[in-house]
Amino acid sequence: MILKQDTGRSLNACTVLIVDDQPTSRLIMTSLLEDITQCHAVAGASEALDYCAAQLPDLVISDVSMPEMSGRQLCEALRSNQPTANIPVMFVTGSDSDEEQEKCWEAGGVDFVTKPINATTFRNRVKTQLNHKIKADLLEQLIYTDRLTGAFNRHYLEERLPFIVKDCERESQPLSMALLDIDFFKQYNDEYGHLTGDECLCRLTRAVNEALLRPMDRVVRVGGEEFLLLMPNTALNGAEIVCNRVIEAVRRLHIPHIGSPYKEITVSIGLALYQTGVSESATAVIAEADKHLYKAKSAGRNQLVFE
Ligand code: GH3
Ligand code: MG
Ligand code: MG
Repeated sequence: MILKQDTGRSLNACTVLIVDDQPTSRLIMTSLLEDITQCHAVAGASEALDYCAAQLPDLVISDVSMPEMSGRQLCEALRSNQPTANIPVMFVTGSDSDEEQEKCWEAGGVDFVTKPINATTFRNRVKTQLNHKIKADLLEQLIYTDRLTGAFNRHYLEERLPFIVKDCERESQPLSMALLDIDFFKQYNDEYGHLTGDECLCRLTRAVNEALLRPMDRVVRVGGEEFLLLMPNTALNGAEIVCNRVIEAVRRLHIPHIGSPYKEITVSIGLALYQTGVSESATAVIAEADKHLYKAKSAGRNQLVFE
């Protein structure tokens, strides 16, 4: 079974975050957009940053001048952090001076509308931005995910790992990395055929994804039946729990495998920790995880090794 690629979401499945210190402005913008898309409104930039850290909106519409932190500063903060860097920010400003407009573009804004808001133009500009975002997300999905399983691919790893490491370094957070490999998978293919092997890969990827609970966790298919699990901001003891949950989730699939001593599909995992300021490089940590995986295989498979 090949997973179907998403053909793009509809506008009403998108989320817009409205940021304005004036309750009336928030109300006006929300009522202008609520028949188009999902709206969430907050009163300031720090609330907006908290919201974006928890869930990524498809568009941020922000007032420019707000008391504690300006809309431009909010935009710059979103841009400087990898997970939020691609959220488009549209400004709403009471000032239409050239200087003000220039600053909005420089901060990384994608559009702006002036107050008082023209309802028709505002609604259409938001629609245009959301349609761009849907296309950009679809393109990113096609570039960065594996067509068979839907997991992230090697290209994603090469492009994004440096940024994931940089974010962990900046926040002095550890990054746990685990290599997972299916046990006796060659025998599985020989016994049940390649198509059943493909189906097994898809079911397993879904189970692994479900066992990783944090939104920043990533499952990358780095080889035929080998996956790298990336767990930012996760220390070794936390990652150990996650990896054991993954092993258990695969066991619970109860996929028959008569060629395996376990009689069902199992996985082995090698885990290693990237410690900020200590580890030499992400590549060295992956090599360490690979050594641990080898140990797990030699010790009988169907287990986790992290030292
Ligand atoms: P071990 O327990 O030591 O990991 O043994 P193994 O048989 O899993 O490992 P090996 O590396 O010898 O074989 C990996 C097999 O995975 C080879 C191939 O049959 C299968 N495989 C790799 N990519 C795919 C794929 O995309 N689809 C299918 N169906 N099978 C694949
Ligand atoms: Mg294998
Ligand atoms: Mg392998």
